[in-house]
Amino acid sequence: MVHNHSMVRPNQRITPPGAQTPNTSLPIRLGRRQGQLVEVHAHEPAFGELALVSPDGQSEHGLDWQSERPVALLHNVQRLTAPNPGTMTGPGTNSYLVGDMATGYIVIDPGPDLPTHQQRLWQATGGDIRMIVCTHSHADHSPGARPLQTLCANRPPILGLPSADTARPNSHFRPDRALIEGEQLQLSDKSEQAHTLRAIFTPGHAANHVCLVLEEDGLLFSGDHILNGSTTVIDPPDGDMSAYLDSLDKLDGACKDWGAEFILPAHGHVLGGARAAIARLKAHRLQREAKILKVMQARPDASEDDWLAAAYDDVPSALWPVARRSLLAHLRRLKELSGEI
Ligand SMILES: [Zn+2]
Repeated sequence: MVHNHSMVRPNQRITPPGAQTPNTSLPIRLGRRQGQLVEVHAHEPAFGELALVSPDGQSEHGLDWQSERPVALLHNVQRLTAPNPGTMTGPGTNSYLVGDMATGYIVIDPGPDLPTHQQRLWQATGGDIRMIVCTHSHADHSPGARPLQTLCANRPPILGLPSADTARPNSHFRPDRALIEGEQLQLSDKSEQAHTLRAIFTPGHAANHVCLVLEEDGLLFSGDHILNGSTTVIDPPDGDMSAYLDSLDKLDGACKDWGAEFILPAHGHVLGGARAAIARLKAHRLQREAKILKVMQARPDASEDDWLAAAYDDVPSALWPVARRSLLAHLRRLKELSGEI
């Protein structure tokens, strides 16, 4: 079947040959961890990934994190996780390879400056990288872009948004060319099989954050705006809670328009039930905000430390230094909403 890309419009998602709609009636899916078959239930983080890769449970899928060779998620989407696991990065930063041997590849988030990782990305694409896209400037996402570009004979352009003045010193980033809102980055071969990534600007986690929708497959690459298994930190002033929530609404609209059911985050497994996941995230943030407001109203003269301890009493205290940044983001937003700033 030959698809003509120009015919693709929102709500007219093209299903690639052989692709299937996920069978949502399966309550348990089987995956493989460290050689063992394991049951994965619908509420577990890896469930969505199994639904994407093996909609009817017809094939086995390994769930161990792979930093040495990429994991195939679809015929035209692979994930290679950088070897930088940690408290802020979870299993590591996911670099995604979109494309195939015939069209060449777009690399999303080349990751931190780790030469072995860039080397493996280069090898996995046979050196045929056409574009490098950074979802945002943070140190675990963009510093690998320039070294990866240097490895490629064709010097593919580095695309994204330049970091804003509010970015921390270790998050300065300047793409070769700034993306345009709604811009389509397209790979195609002579048979007109195309892979088209559409840029969606999503400030909030970082002022220069961009998400991407793979139009033909209805997939959302969410960078750090939406994670699986952890909560995104909103660190003002580059992070902005109101912008974050607005961007979530925008992503919900994009998932609706493009029929996207799966979210591919920069940290963690693929998320299924995209729009429901976005709704849960938004509700979680607003619940936290309501709790903060209640704590402040009960103890208006207490210190920020006291508010933090009370509003995040369900979060391990080891995470409070990070939670404090999100608390500040909520306080700024509450001031905005009350008209104080
Ligand atoms: Zn990150």
